[in-house]
Amino acid sequence: MMGQLAARGHELTPDPAEAEVIVVNTCSFIDPAKQESVDTILEMAEYKKIGQAKKLIVAGCLVERYRGDIRKDLPEVDALIGTNEIERIGDICEGVEASESGSVAPYLYHDLTPRILATPRHFAYMKIAEGCDHPCTFCVIPQYRGKFRSRRFESVISEATRLFAHGVREINLIGQDTTCYGEDLGIRDGLAELLARLAGIETPQEKWIRFLYAYPNRVSQKLLDTIAAHASLAKYIDMPLQHASAPVLKRMKRGASGDIFLKLIEKIRRTIPGVAIRTSFIVGFPGETDADFETLRQFVEAAQFDRLGVFTYSDEDTSASFALDGKVDGRTIQNRKRSLMALQRRVSRAKNRRLVGAEFPVLVEGPSPETDLLWQARMSTQAPEIDGVTLINDFEGAEPKPGQIRRLRVTEAHDYDLIGTLMAGVEQDPNAAPAHDERAEWPGAGTARLIQIGPAPAQIPVR
Ligand code: SF4
Repeated sequence: MMGQLAARGHELTPDPAEAEVIVVNTCSFIDPAKQESVDTILEMAEYKKIGQAKKLIVAGCLVERYRGDIRKDLPEVDALIGTNEIERIGDICEGVEASESGSVAPYLYHDLTPRILATPRHFAYMKIAEGCDHPCTFCVIPQYRGKFRSRRFESVISEATRLFAHGVREINLIGQDTTCYGEDLGIRDGLAELLARLAGIETPQEKWIRFLYAYPNRVSQKLLDTIAAHASLAKYIDMPLQHASAPVLKRMKRGASGDIFLKLIEKIRRTIPGVAIRTSFIVGFPGETDADFETLRQFVEAAQFDRLGVFTYSDEDTSASFALDGKVDGRTIQNRKRSLMALQRRVSRAKNRRLVGAEFPVLVEGPSPETDLLWQARMSTQAPEIDGVTLINDFEGAEPKPGQIRRLRVTEAHDYDLIGTLMAGVEQDPNAAPAHDERAEWPGAGTARLIQIGPAPAQIPVR
């Protein structure tokens, strides 16, 4: 949406007080996301009274799910844009057409779509597929994102090439299920092939590529071999497992069991030395007994995950699990979450302590958003925004600069974060990123600047 507005000559501002049109992009996956979306809409509506705003537009999944309710209960909202109507953003902002077209053609952007990066210049997310065909009973995403569909190979390669040419050092591939990539195009092991092609893009400097959201039974040996074979593919597997007790996984309609997952984890670690495995679980799913939760705890203890997130079950009225019996009370759910996180904190701390004294390449991000005294960086085994970080409290040689990949010696370990000294030896940077004020692009510096990635020069979009 930002890319399209910029391409039509509109000026983007992160300051709602000076915006003439405010767009709130929403999520409706679970209760806290819905609440945050509604709170933001109400907060932004105030700027129609105290700021320059003449129009408030709500976009995204909340619209797909509660279009009628928003129209009825939030009269401050002037227009709605569903997830498949993104290309209407320009017309709606300019008041060219009525607020709703009823368009339902599944939307997926391509290499001719103009794009603005809302992330700092050194990393970017890139969507490779949209929608999901899995039947997970707790999940409402397929209802709003539609059937699974992949972007074309060449479209993804073309966009990645341009991102790297703009100075992006790390690309994170996303989609509801990245490991299904290419299945709808009739390609076997599509993600493995795509990763190998992305790794082959020539860049003047080291680059990192990772994918997020793997579905466990799609993590093939070929995929793991491909990650192991290419230095630029992050040794990182993000694989939400959701639970480890077989009866719960069956009610979730995901299948498998803790034992099956342990064998897969062993295979991942055997194939990719030094890999970091991230997962997430849902606690309090309907029917989850004390014994099921104990199975999950024992599994987490045995699996020794590098990164782990815990969600509390959210009883969504349009999900299949809404009709299941055996709902778990809220207090028990919270206690289970606390218990699992406490266990993981111990695992994480022990793993981090073993890294003290070791050296790793890190991607320097910028001054720490928490304190002026530290800089923030990440190892390739730390994904942006969801994992811990590596903080720099000292450096040898040249001053750190955002976007550099440099070696760091770990000197201290915390539960989730590491602290270390950046070592001398700055990579040569002949023609990588265009000259820019790096500090201004990192949220830690106070102001974020938007990076514009122009569309591919081709005439025909490669969808
Ligand atoms: S695989 Fe992910 S997006 Fe798809 S239904 Fe399951 S939880 Fe939802």
